[in-house]
Amino acid sequence: MFLYIAGRGHSGSTIADLALTQDQAMTGFGELLSGLGRDGELCGCGLLASECEYWESIAKAGDLVSNSSNGESKSLLKALGSLLNHHSRIVRYPFYWVAPKRILSKVAGSYFLATRKMYDLALESASSKHVVESSKEVTRALLLLRGMDDVLIIHLVRDPAAMLASNMYRVSKGSGFRFMRRSFSSSSFRPLYVFIASFGWLVGNFMVEALRVYSKGNLVRVKYEDICDAPESFVALIEEKIDEPLPFALKFLNGEVGAKQTHGVAGNRERKKQEVRFDRKRAASRDGLKPWERFAVKIITAPLRWVYGY
Ligand SMILES: [Zn+2]
Repeated sequence: MFLYIAGRGHSGSTIADLALTQDQAMTGFGELLSGLGRDGELCGCGLLASECEYWESIAKAGDLVSNSSNGESKSLLKALGSLLNHHSRIVRYPFYWVAPKRILSKVAGSYFLATRKMYDLALESASSKHVVESSKEVTRALLLLRGMDDVLIIHLVRDPAAMLASNMYRVSKGSGFRFMRRSFSSSSFRPLYVFIASFGWLVGNFMVEALRVYSKGNLVRVKYEDICDAPESFVALIEEKIDEPLPFALKFLNGEVGAKQTHGVAGNRERKKQEVRFDRKRAASRDGLKPWERFAVKIITAPLRWVYGY
């Protein structure tokens, strides 16, 4: 099965991804769309993605889409990266949502072929049964649901105030505000960031909800807070969906063991640490919002916040 984590940034997707790839049955891509083909991108194993054996074998899927004759894994990964990113752009969402299936397979045929091939190669290379990806982009979730049969979309949501606090923590540290894969570093636009992040949470999560039309039960909504508070329920839910026990996922989320290294790319810095140990108490605690910011995020996100019980 292809497990795809969708949702907003700063919602805990790196932790969920890491947890789900701890068992032998599962392998993963990490945050594929942002990491694939990026120059100097490090794989979770510590090597450059272009020099890691796992990615070298997945790069073979690039033969389907690349015209370059040298077949070097670096350029194949780049070709795959630009194909997948091109079709996953947010502006394409409305078209892909309404397009009849026959048009969809014409327009995005090579996208589906490449995705399927990468999936097969990853399973083969890691001797696993399932692939996890945490790109989060909603258009990719839509395409996967409409174009592939064995997909499970994990819609990860998090309290918008906590999401905003995590965003603003980045800004106050000087790492900038991330929006549409760009980084904005000026902290004088902080009020604007608050509005963008809040509206982004509302609209972005609504767009994932709208995928239920196509999901045939293959979309589950998971709250990050529930993963922290009751990891056993989250793990049991996924185990039931894939019909496979995931003992290491639970041990990791319970903080009993550190994460073993995986081959995922991009994602939160946590992934690159030598041994990540998940501390669910600490994970829930960060704050630092100004009172008006907390008020603004609550008002803007109200419609879905009530539905989700935040
Ligand atoms: Zn690797």
